[in-house]
Amino acid sequence: MAERVIITLACNVCKNRNYHFNRSKKLEGKLTIKKFCKKCVKRTDHSETK
Ligand SMILES: [Zn+2]
Repeated sequence: MAERVIITLACNVCKNRNYHFNRSKKLEGKLTIKKFCKKCVKRTDHSETK
């Protein structure tokens, strides 16, 4: 069985934690995704956080 970790994506603008993902632990490195932020009410860059 593959080991899984939960990754949290936080908005780079307001630091609001908007998204959670289950990911294989083998996938490393910080990822940045453009996602809609409810707090900013627009699409912003979201980065992986703990
Ligand atoms: Zn935001």
